[in-house]
Amino acid sequence: MSIEPAADLNTAWSARDLAAIWHPCTQMRDHAGSVPMIPIARGDGAWLIDQNGKRYLDAISSWWTNLFGHANPRIAAAIKDQLDRLEHVIFAGFSHEPAIRLAEELLRIAPPGLARVFYADNGSSAVEVALKMSFHYWRNLGRSGKTRFVALTGSYHGETLGALSVTDVPLYRATYAPLLNQPIFVDSPDCYMREPGESWREHSLRKLADMRAALETHSEEICAVIVEPLVQCAGGMRMYHPAYLTGLRRLCDEFGVHLIVDEIAVGFGRTGTLFACEQACSDQQRFTPDFLCLSKGLTGGFLPLSAVLTTASIYEAFYAEYTSRKAFLHSHSYTGNPLACRAALETLAIFRDEPVLERTRALAAHLATRLVAVADHAHVAEVRQTGMIAAIELVRDKSTRAPFSAAERRGLRVYLHGLERGVLLRPLGDVVYFMPPYVITTDEIDLMVDVAIAGIERAVA
Ligand code: PMP
Repeated sequence: MSIEPAADLNTAWSARDLAAIWHPCTQMRDHAGSVPMIPIARGDGAWLIDQNGKRYLDAISSWWTNLFGHANPRIAAAIKDQLDRLEHVIFAGFSHEPAIRLAEELLRIAPPGLARVFYADNGSSAVEVALKMSFHYWRNLGRSGKTRFVALTGSYHGETLGALSVTDVPLYRATYAPLLNQPIFVDSPDCYMREPGESWREHSLRKLADMRAALETHSEEICAVIVEPLVQCAGGMRMYHPAYLTGLRRLCDEFGVHLIVDEIAVGFGRTGTLFACEQACSDQQRFTPDFLCLSKGLTGGFLPLSAVLTTASIYEAFYAEYTSRKAFLHSHSYTGNPLACRAALETLAIFRDEPVLERTRALAAHLATRLVAVADHAHVAEVRQTGMIAAIELVRDKSTRAPFSAAERRGLRVYLHGLERGVLLRPLGDVVYFMPPYVITTDEIDLMVDVAIAGIERAVA
């Protein structure tokens, strides 16, 4: 009996891919050189399996979307069931059970005081909705002088022009700056920047002074402040203390501007609570954003869907005679897609049925113990963690924190090492981070960290 040599399906599929597709967030020329295109054939829990059968541990939840594993059987079954009933229907004038049930469930679990759900179909679109709704609310109240937004330095809110306007990651923003509205950027409470000896809490509270100054000067022209709560993800997993959010809520109330909380990346348990902004609540004070943007993990990572939750008073400012032109006429064709809503309903059912947050807290504690030693590394300026998100900041010089030259692409070397060893790490510049799906085991966390450390050793050599 002769044994056929295993076909190199990766090479064949990758050649077809590179002949036809233009990939996101990619200099395509990299793929003509040392960076392979990996064609994935299937997923299995925390693992991705390529066309040749090689397995990769998905340490970044496929762009932070996946919560309960690839090909999760519960979510897959819910979508299959929905497929035979209704794939899609126009969402103006028509509705359907999955969207209604999902809205009810989101309002039940969201911070108190949110009363309405507006659906869109990806994170950037949710941000566009929140920005436009805030502006339009003030206009409906006769406050048409309110036309600007406040965002934090280092923030990321998406790639469409409105969302990119309130983004402060030069790599994504600088080229398109001539097309963008200019928000007021206020210094981030990012605790990497804290003074020696200063606690996260002290630093974050101190940074509220910058926000107060901006609002004192500009509140008459400001619609809303938009923030990523607790972790500025695409900006390099920079983190801050929840006390900042508590103070920010008070400032927004004092100066009469909305607060848009973008939980697109950090929602659904990533930070240790279901929503990150819950950590800004205390017995004395509840925390309610004016707009809460959700996407990514909303469907467990299965299908694109986003939702903007808002308050009854904002909703009521749009509720009027048709001829008053107060209605919010924003729409996307796939608004409230039934398959995506079923995936989201099943995702939320898993949160109800299983002790997800307890489990992630235990996993996060294990990850923390594995990262302690990394902080001592000669090229590591900081190891930081909030819940299931952890990051390692690589620098050229530990004492001055001088970064490596971006052209050296040290993070890319970590990425390539990870691929070789079967772990999908995708550093943000020189920030190596972990945001794995919640089905990861402690052994898999050990593997993920070991491979990252070995990759860092190679990258800084
Ligand atoms: N906001 C935040 C905080 C994000 O991290 C992202 C995506 N990384 C977005 C918005 C945009 O979401 P999408 O990629 O679905 O447009």
